[in-house]
Amino acid sequence: MTSTAPLHTQRRIGRWTVHALWAGGLRLDGGAMFGIVPKPLWERRMQADGRNRISLGMRSFLIEHEAGLVLIETGVGNKEDPKFCDIYGVDNAGTEGRTMLEDALRAVGHRPEDVRIVIDTHLHFDHAGGNTYRDRDGKLRLTFPNARYVVQAGEYHYATHTNERTAGSYLAHNFVPVQEAGAFDLVEGEREIVPGIRVVPTPGHTPHHHSVLLESAGERAIVIADLVPTATHVPLPWIMGYDVEPLVTLETKRRILARAEAEDWLVVFVHDPTVIWGRLKEGRFGAG
Ligand SMILES: [Zn+2]
Repeated sequence: MTSTAPLHTQRRIGRWTVHALWAGGLRLDGGAMFGIVPKPLWERRMQADGRNRISLGMRSFLIEHEAGLVLIETGVGNKEDPKFCDIYGVDNAGTEGRTMLEDALRAVGHRPEDVRIVIDTHLHFDHAGGNTYRDRDGKLRLTFPNARYVVQAGEYHYATHTNERTAGSYLAHNFVPVQEAGAFDLVEGEREIVPGIRVVPTPGHTPHHHSVLLESAGERAIVIADLVPTATHVPLPWIMGYDVEPLVTLETKRRILARAEAEDWLVVFVHDPTVIWGRLKEGRFGAG
């Protein structure tokens, strides 16, 4: 799947050019991805490999905003060891020891130094891992040295106070160096980050997960992140086993998807291996 995914693609949303950047492939356990949904049902939509894993994407979104470049999500990064990458099927190596995300950024004419704002929807390793990177000397550095990084204050607290169930998803080297560098803007609740781009709490997957609502020239889109990780997860009970508060996810989905359909929002996916964006009609999803 990853070999056929385009490194980048773009569309207009209102006045802005928005690039979908391929930050790499990932393989996660199909059962964990679909929670209570039985395998015979999900397998018709997404096939499992010999280790029962399904192929997912990791996508970042770059908005060419009047205020500067805004990047949503940063993928896994380059800091994990071969065993980790084998377990999770991480396929994101780029040129010069960095990642596909940096390659994709370069392919659309920008450098990491040019990014002004990074929005992490939450701090799981497949969303915030590329916040930092390890250089040739083994030193941890900020991938986007001139950016302010945005996440919910509650998510940062949750990520730094883990328990046995949550610890595997939160790797300190992805976010503690950002905080130590003073580069985080820890926000609380709904907040406009730059004109037309706002973070909206969408709890359930984690208690302080937020999605990103884009609004420009009358057009609206939502980078929905792990509230609805793929187009296959649009039906309300198709909720990940990874979610820490699945019944909260259910009510958040009910509310957000109803609004998305009623107000004709473009729904934008981070993890779908092939479908990047589309709209809802009568509760069903159509790509495009
Ligand atoms: Zn997550």
